[in-house]
Amino acid sequence: MMLQAWLSQLPTRAHAAAMDNPDAGQWLYMARIWIQQARDLVWGQEEKRVYGPCETGPCMEPLSAGPDAVSVKCRNCKTVHNIPDLIDRLKQKAKGEPMPPRETREFLQKEARVFIVKKDFENWVQLGKLDPVIRVDGTGKERKMYYPGDVLKVFQEMRDRRRVKAS
Ligand SMILES: [Zn+2]
Repeated sequence: MMLQAWLSQLPTRAHAAAMDNPDAGQWLYMARIWIQQARDLVWGQEEKRVYGPCETGPCMEPLSAGPDAVSVKCRNCKTVHNIPDLIDRLKQKAKGEPMPPRETREFLQKEARVFIVKKDFENWVQLGKLDPVIRVDGTGKERKMYYPGDVLKVFQEMRDRRRVKAS
């Protein structure tokens, strides 16, 4: 019940943040993809799901469809998109680009207004909650990078767990 109440509040809150800071809004919107399947992609109206821009060539027409649709036809360029492909694309985008730990924390603070302390991040790595991407830098040194979307997902899980414990 608590979770449901919180979820139903989310669009308004995310919308308010989007008005305030379009980048944070975009991140909150993408963060919602991770929260619950049924409500994932609902933005604003309940009967309409928004799947981001068309992205066929220069076409940036927003794509939206009813909850039972299996595909969306772009109103502008007439491209037909399969919904599972659009969801994969959104999930990939929500992960972001891999970055080193400190940059990941700074990025989330700036873009999603989520403050993660160094110690928590290190704990999550130790608990195996975050899978690093290994990148070799210019000097041949291996560096561990993390997807901000993955980190955000773990942050939300941990926060929800704490909330359940507290209630
Ligand atoms: Zn299009």
